[in-house]
Amino acid sequence: MKQSTNNYYQELKSALDIIEVARGLLPERITYSHADKLYMDCPMHNSTSKRSLVVDGTRQLWNCFGCGLGGDLIQFVQFANTGKITHGTPLSASHKEARDFLALRANLPPLQELSPELAKKMEDERAEREKISSVFADVVYFFHNKAINNGDVLNWAHEKWGFTQEAFERFSLGYSDNEGLTDYLDKRGHSLADIAMTGAFSFSADRSSLFPLLKNRIVFPFFSGGQIVYLSGRQTPWTPDDDFNSGKKYLKLMLKSEKHPDVSELIRNDYFFNEDTLRRRIEKIVITEGIPDAVALEMNGFPSMSTATVKVPTGIEKRLKHLLRETPKIYVCNDTEDSGIGINNAIETGLMLERAGLDVRIIELPMAGGFDE
Ligand SMILES: [Zn+2]
Repeated sequence: MKQSTNNYYQELKSALDIIEVARGLLPERITYSHADKLYMDCPMHNSTSKRSLVVDGTRQLWNCFGCGLGGDLIQFVQFANTGKITHGTPLSASHKEARDFLALRANLPPLQELSPELAKKMEDERAEREKISSVFADVVYFFHNKAINNGDVLNWAHEKWGFTQEAFERFSLGYSDNEGLTDYLDKRGHSLADIAMTGAFSFSADRSSLFPLLKNRIVFPFFSGGQIVYLSGRQTPWTPDDDFNSGKKYLKLMLKSEKHPDVSELIRNDYFFNEDTLRRRIEKIVITEGIPDAVALEMNGFPSMSTATVKVPTGIEKRLKHLLRETPKIYVCNDTEDSGIGINNAIETGLMLERAGLDVRIIELPMAGGFDE
């Protein structure tokens, strides 16, 4: 068996595909399959459509409209076995059973075979990850509603990048108009400490309230394994022109540091925008420098993800190679500018991937041909 690394749940989820697990567990229930979705006749209730249970491979999530339940891969197994799902800690017996069943499939040791300290650390991490992703889900939902109800923002994004409302829906894009945000998160039951763990908020001096980091920006959520793990905010004409924001085209989340002790260690910037697209077992992918370029390409039928940076930092090269290991053809496309920084870095990224045995091509755009220009 493989030696377990320090993030058991992440490893479990990245080793398995919810579509394959669903096909294996409930083959007789599949009534329709389209793109990366399975439509199933829910085993837990009678449905006239016979399609109420939807499994989404890109997001690695499922939902039954009849039962009003949904969740991740582990919860799918739990649901298939018992008709119920559970959240949070302490873990229910059925949740542990589902986890161990999947661990066996992923060739990982069952969690109870690990040392008690390591097992506890992983359980704590999982609980923290669940809290963070639930705050992110509410923040993203809030910003998304602000965006789709703001004609000026939609028009601006359409003129700038050709984004339609469909693009906003598909990528859960938002606009960080923060009016009412902290009240909303409070109503949703999140504590200030949990909200601050995301790195998207700072405490006031007396720690009685929180200030959102992203102000009047287009918010791009990063999904990994179906969960929101990171946000990036793109400047707009409405972003305040203050010392903090001025000149920052993109604002990323705070990471844990001496200066930001309230941020969770689980907030990392080694994720790629739209990396879950690789779960569709695609034939080719375009890796772009800019996030909006990846959205525009996907909307036009080209699988794409973004490194969100001109140069892939050494620390995340390994993760990039791992993610791309099964993709037959890879295209790297950076912005083009006078200095040649974009193309030089694209070549560097390309060579790095080629050394890992991948088939890579570089796309050089004509001057000012970037989607952002
Ligand atoms: Zn159901």
